[in-house]
Amino acid sequence: MRIVLLGAPGSGKGTQSQRLVERAGIPQISTGDLLRAAVARGTALGRQAREAMEGGRLVDDSLVLGMIRERLGEPDTRRGFILDGFPRNLAQAHALERLLETLQQPLDAVVQLEVDSRELVRRISGRRTCTDCGRVFNLLTSPPPATPGESCPKTGGPHRLTQRPDDNEATVAERLRVYDEKTRPLIDFYRARGLLRVIDAEADVDEVTRRLARALGAPALRAARAAKSATRRAPHRTSARRKAAPAKSARRRAKSATGRAPRRGKARAGLRVNTRGKSPRTRAGQGRPKGRPR
Ligand code: AMP
Repeated sequence: MRIVLLGAPGSGKGTQSQRLVERAGIPQISTGDLLRAAVARGTALGRQAREAMEGGRLVDDSLVLGMIRERLGEPDTRRGFILDGFPRNLAQAHALERLLETLQQPLDAVVQLEVDSRELVRRISGRRTCTDCGRVFNLLTSPPPATPGESCPKTGGPHRLTQRPDDNEATVAERLRVYDEKTRPLIDFYRARGLLRVIDAEADVDEVTRRLARALGAPALRAARAAKSATRRAPHRTSARRKAAPAKSARRRAKSATGRAPRRGKARAGLRVNTRGKSPRTRAGQGRPKGRPR
C-alpha cells in the first residue's frame, strides 16, 4: 500500500502514520523528520534547510525531492510506504507522480485529515516528542503513559519529552498560512486523479485511526463487491452494484477532468477493515472541508 497523508500541521498525520506503520508494516516517510535529523546532524542539507524551517516556510523543492528520491530507492519501501508531510506543493506532487511512474509504484490513496484551525493551534501547543525514540505525544490528547513499565523502547526509561522549536506561536501561524496557500491545492490535484479520501480528524486518536482504516479499506471493499457482482448472472442491479456505482462515476468525473482514468482501488493487505458503520464523510472525495486555517 502506497499512501500520502495530507493535512495541516497538527492534524495528526505523524501520530496516525506511526499507527499505520504498526498495523500495515510499511515505513513512514516524514520529510519533516528527515529534515530535522539532517539539521541535528549538521549536514550540508540540514544547514540549507534550517532557516526555512525555523521561519515556518517550505524548504527548497530541490532539497526535499533529492531526499525523497533517495529514501524511495531504499528496499524497505518496496512493500509500500506512508508519505507524511510530502508532497507540500503542486511542484512536489507532480515530481512525485513522475518518480513513482518511473519506479512503477503509483499511489493507492491520498487521505486528507480535516481539522478546524482553532483545534490545530490547540493541538500544536500540546505536542511533545520523545528525544530518544521519536514518538509523538500530545499532553492534551495522547499523553505519554504514566504506568511504570510502559517506557521508551530506546532507553527503557521514561520518555524524555521536548517541544519542537517551530511549534511556537509565530511560526505556527506562518506554517498554517503556508499550508493554506501551497498545500491545500493538492486536495483538488488528488481528487482529480480519483485518489482522494477525506476524513474528519477532529476526534480522539483511536476514533481517527478507525476512520482512517475505513477510508483506506473502502476501495478494496468496492472492488471486491464489484468483482463479485460482475460474476452474477442476474441482469438487475444488486445492492453491491448500487454501492459500487458512485466509485464508477467518480472515476468518470476524474477522467473528464484530467483526460485519463485514475487507478482503480486494489485489494489491500495488512489493514484491519471495519466493514460496518461507514461514515459518508470517509468516502472518496466526499469530505467537506472545514474552516480554513486563519
Ligand atoms: P513537519 O514536521 O512536516 O511539520 O515539517 C516541519 C518543517 O519542515 C516544515 O515547516 C518545513 O519547513 C519543512 N518541510 C517538511 N516537509 C517539507 C516538504 N515536503 N517541503 C518543504 N518543506 C518541508
